[in-house]
Amino acid sequence: MAKIPMTTPLVEMDGDEMTRIIWKMIKDILITPYVDLKTEYYDLGLEHRNETNDQVTVESAEATKKYGVAVKCATITPNAARMTEYDLKEMWKSPNGTIRAILDGTVFRSPIIVKGITPYIPTWKKPITIARHAYGDVYKNTEMIVEGGSKAELLVTKADGTTETSLIHEFKGDGIIQGMHNLDDSIGSFARACFNYALDLKQDIWFATKDTISKKYDHTFKDIFQEIFDNDYKEKFEEAGIEYFYTLIDDAVARVVRSDGGYIWACKNYDGDVMSDMIATAFGSLAMMTSVLVSPDGIYEYEAAHGTVQRHYYKHLKGEETSTNSVATLFAWTGALRKRGELDGNKALSDFADKLEQATIKTIEDGVMTGDLYLLSTLENKKKVNTEDFLVAINDRLKEIL
Ligand code: NAP
Ligand code: MG
Repeated sequence: MAKIPMTTPLVEMDGDEMTRIIWKMIKDILITPYVDLKTEYYDLGLEHRNETNDQVTVESAEATKKYGVAVKCATITPNAARMTEYDLKEMWKSPNGTIRAILDGTVFRSPIIVKGITPYIPTWKKPITIARHAYGDVYKNTEMIVEGGSKAELLVTKADGTTETSLIHEFKGDGIIQGMHNLDDSIGSFARACFNYALDLKQDIWFATKDTISKKYDHTFKDIFQEIFDNDYKEKFEEAGIEYFYTLIDDAVARVVRSDGGYIWACKNYDGDVMSDMIATAFGSLAMMTSVLVSPDGIYEYEAAHGTVQRHYYKHLKGEETSTNSVATLFAWTGALRKRGELDGNKALSDFADKLEQATIKTIEDGVMTGDLYLLSTLENKKKVNTEDFLVAINDRLKEIL
């Protein structure tokens, strides 16, 4: 079989530890034998980030803006222990944070569903995608401990020097206080990314906040979503046969639990942080969760939701056998290849991505899986395999499907 040609390169962001090992295996075993793979390669491994003073991360994000589609391996976000382990010049920022700031994106996370791994909510048959706003609120807050007898006020000094104040509380006893913000532009970008993604997936989208209690803050989120929807998306949604609706966060939670899945749930920053862990866990495993950053102007960066699986990497370095789940990283590749195919009118490439995903799901449903899934699977004929043999088993099925 001739290899599938590519016209535009993918931006390839390599990463760290066990996921870096898996990254190469996926390419060698499942992609380059079938696709004439074109990528613009950026090494975001911590050593190279340190050598380039993290410039490589910025360059990879700029390249993503240029080409439109990137695939990213999990990367270490340095902490004190990593400073000594990698002899770092600086405690470099989270690459994901840097890339997100440059692309101004929203993160969408969806579970990969397979037979044998049963969601804890038995009615969930289709994936539930969480769209998390990744700017502001409690993540950029200012807090104070307040002594009894204090009066706390909110003070805004405007551009013309005039001020506006509002009483927060007159403290009789000791207490606490917190200030936070968000930006209309950021909320608008979030809304557009959500609506575009819903059109892409042809799925309904829900948005929920606590606007009954937060009549200005949360209500502004609700209003911006509604205005952008009415002006720019209403007709497109009608054509696509999908729906947008807003509801209170409590109502959304109740509806999610009763639903059978198959929609996108847009959440404010904190809600999205909490709810995405709930959704991932309830569907089974973080190693079966895909993640894509979508910018309002339609740029896509695909990755796995999990980290670099450090504990497995140290075993690997000692020469011990590992059984690390490569599904989320593999689906980052298939997501990126499919999107590249769609953008370039390269149907063969998109079809290949679909088939590789089918082969992966079939492998697990045939009972061949890595250790993490082996512990969860209810299949009777299940068999635990090592990291590489799992990919080889997928390849056996891929050959049949192709
Ligand atoms: P992690 O790499 O997600 O791993 C946490 C644990 O979850 C693992 O030890 C493993 O459990 C299990 N696990 C996760 N992914 C798995 C997989 N694919 N297959 C099998 N088991 C899997 O999180 P972490 O240990 O907290 O973080 C490690 C490094 O990753 C850190 O340096 C952090 O900065 C980085 N990180 C990067 C990203 C990103 O780039 N997007 C996200 C999160 C964390 P067992 O050990 O019990 O088998
Ligand atoms: Mg969290």
